[in-house]
Amino acid sequence: MRLIFLGPPGCGKGTQAKLLSEQRHLEHIATGDILRDAKRRGTPAGNRARSYIEAGKLVPDDLVNDLIAERFSGEDRPQRFIMDGYPRTLNQAEAFERVLRQHGLNLTRVVLFKVDEEELVRRVAGRLSCPKTSCKATYHIISRPPQRPGICDLCGTPLVQREDDKEETIRERLAVYHRQTAELIDYYRKQGLLREVFGEGEIPKVYERLLAVLDEEAG
Ligand code: AMP
Repeated sequence: MRLIFLGPPGCGKGTQAKLLSEQRHLEHIATGDILRDAKRRGTPAGNRARSYIEAGKLVPDDLVNDLIAERFSGEDRPQRFIMDGYPRTLNQAEAFERVLRQHGLNLTRVVLFKVDEEELVRRVAGRLSCPKTSCKATYHIISRPPQRPGICDLCGTPLVQREDDKEETIRERLAVYHRQTAELIDYYRKQGLLREVFGEGEIPKVYERLLAVLDEEAG
C-alpha cells in the first residue's frame, strides 16, 4: 500500500498515519518531523528550514523535494509507505510523481481528512508533542491528556508545545494550507485517487473510517 495523507494542520493525519503504519507495516514518512529533527540537529537543510517552520510557512519546494528524492534513492527505499505532510504543493506532487515513476512505484490512494476549521485551531493549540525522535507521540491537554501531566506515556520524555502550534502560527498555517495545498485535492481527485475520511470524533472511530475506505479499495 502506498498512500498520501492530505489535510490541514490538526486534522489528525499524523496520529492516523502512526496507527496505520504500525498495524500494516508501512513506513511513515512525515516531512514535518524530518524537518524539525534537521532543525534541532542544525544540519544545513534544518538551518535553511528554520525560519519558515517558525513562521508557519512552507519551506521551499526544492528543499523538501531533495529530501524525499534522497530518501527514495537508496536500495532500502520505502516500498510501502504513508506520506504525511508531503506533497504540499503542485510542484511537490509533480516531483514526487517523477521519483515514484523512476523507481516503478505507483500510488494506491490519497486520503483527505476533513475537519471543521475551528476544531482544527482548538486541536492544534492544545496539542502537546513528544520531542523524542523515535517516539513522536502527540496528546491534547483536554481531549487526550497524558497520564502524568507533561510527560509522555510511551517513553517518559517531557512533552513540549511545538513552536508552530501557538495560536497565531496556526492561523497562518491554515491560510497556507488553503493557498498552497488545497489545490492538491482536485489534482488527485481528477486522477481518481482521492478518498475522503471525516476526521472528527474519537481517534479509534476515525481509524475505523479510514480502514473502511482503504479496505473497500483492496476488496
Ligand atoms: P507539519 O508537522 O506537517 O505540520 O509540518 C510542520 C512545518 O514543516 C510546516 O509548517 C512547514 O514549515 C514544514 N513542512 C513540512 N512538510 C512540508 C512540505 N511538504 N513542504 C513545505 N514545508 C513543509
